Amino acid sequence: MSENSKAKKNSSMSWKYSNALESIEHISISPVYKLFIGGKFVNPISKKYFHSSNPANEKKLAKIALAGKSDVNKAVLAAKSAYDNIWEKIDPKERGKYLFRIARLIQEKSRELAIIESLDGGKPIRESRDIDIPLAAAHFFYYAGWADKLDYAFPGRKASSIGVAGQIIPWNFPLLMAAWKIAPALASGNTVVLKPAESTPLTALKLAEIIQEADLPAGVVNIITGDGTTGELLVNNPNVDKIAFTGSTKVGKMIINSLAATKKKYSLELGGKAANIICEDAAIDQAVEGIINSIFFNQGHVCCAGSRLYVQESISNQIISKLHSRMDHLILGDPLDKNTDIGAINSKAQLKRIKMYLDIGKKDGGEIYQSKHSIPKKGYWCAPTLFTDISQSHRIVQEEIFGPVLAIQSFRTIDEVIAKANNSPYGLSGGVWTDKGSKIFQVSKKIRAGVIWANTFNKFDPTSPFGGYKESGIGREGGLEGLSPYVNIVNRN
Ligand code: NAP
Ligand code: MG
Repeated sequence: MSENSKAKKNSSMSWKYSNALESIEHISISPVYKLFIGGKFVNPISKKYFHSSNPANEKKLAKIALAGKSDVNKAVLAAKSAYDNIWEKIDPKERGKYLFRIARLIQEKSRELAIIESLDGGKPIRESRDIDIPLAAAHFFYYAGWADKLDYAFPGRKASSIGVAGQIIPWNFPLLMAAWKIAPALASGNTVVLKPAESTPLTALKLAEIIQEADLPAGVVNIITGDGTTGELLVNNPNVDKIAFTGSTKVGKMIINSLAATKKKYSLELGGKAANIICEDAAIDQAVEGIINSIFFNQGHVCCAGSRLYVQESISNQIISKLHSRMDHLILGDPLDKNTDIGAINSKAQLKRIKMYLDIGKKDGGEIYQSKHSIPKKGYWCAPTLFTDISQSHRIVQEEIFGPVLAIQSFRTIDEVIAKANNSPYGLSGGVWTDKGSKIFQVSKKIRAGVIWANTFNKFDPTSPFGGYKESGIGREGGLEGLSPYVNIVNRN
């Protein structure tokens, strides 16, 4: 039987698993969350609130305080006082102990945190349970180890803390992004005001409870919820010494503009449009799984998603037909079901944006294939989608969609695919699939992106630096390099 007819036969078969819903009985979500400032949950001076809801069923989960100008100021002053009076002076070994304690508490509460992450953000429980929460704990463990070893991190030079770090994070990996930001900042002696995204504030607020339980000195970490305006207020607050931002390139550019005439340091982790390159000598089935993981993992809400697929011409039809079959067998539905592969799109606004790009792709002449899933009536959903018959100049190839949408093109030579991969304003990540080690080195050396995965995709580790070239950002997070944005360095004489 030919590969094509085998794939067709497989796609006509359908499997059904019994429901395997994660119980939510043991979790606790307060009906109202205040702002976490100076070690306490306090009412917002603004007197304003908003709701965070579950994107899989549109039900409200909790009422959340919205920090206004006076609240942001109060949080920054709490962080400044904690920096001046406690955190900068404390024995670095003690800082490390607090970080270890936070890491262990995250591990202890990992099940509750995973469920809340899936409820608030729509991602499958399998991902929040196996990826987000363990990696968040791992980042605290990793940076706890650096707290008393900064002299070894920067040999021959002296690293000193900066002061108050204002940190702004997006909705795609809420607790993990909070860990990426808070752990290196505290390890290197800074204090923090963190603003989570409007649609996913709950695990950051649970982290605030953990921080209280860990007895971290008051004001060392402050967590203030709100919308884009709250983020803007934090960026422009005169007592903030450093801004760490993860989010869209559009907002990143606005932040650079407002910081241009100030002495504030900044690091930015922005958008991406990764090229995933499949050579004809790759292990085909592994590559197909890798493609599925690279773009449909977390509904494509991944800055480093392999959203541009380049397949060598001789295997292009085979890969596309295998992808169709595999896409149809993914399980789309309740994020709390342990079998679910594809959860809900994070918000109504994000779904609207994805649909806009589906229309653009079709209007520009692309051939669309969407998996045959029945879509739940409530909530925000997008079936896994791929486009063929497109070229480099198409908007769906050039612009970040941030959804489960794959743009496929073929290539003949390695030089051609390298040129195509680099023809992008972004440079965050990329992937190459081949049997030849030499080809891996050839491709990864020439692609301008912060991370290139070989025969795998979307793998993270706290010891590896992550960050972008070009419009994908400035600075690195993770690893030893992740300490640099949080220190001033002088030569020892
Ligand atoms: P976003 O709209 O830029 O928002 C990111 C954060 O900034 C949110 O907390 C947001 O608050 C806040 N914000 C909005 N406007 C602001 C302003 N004018 N000043 C200061 N803060 C402001 O991005 P998103 O839609 O949440 O996230 C998706 C984007 O993040 C994608 O482009 C993705 O590629 C990128 N991302 C990059 C990385 C990386 O490591 N490079 C990792 C994850 C995500 P509200 O939520 O309240 O609006
Ligand atoms: Mg939510």
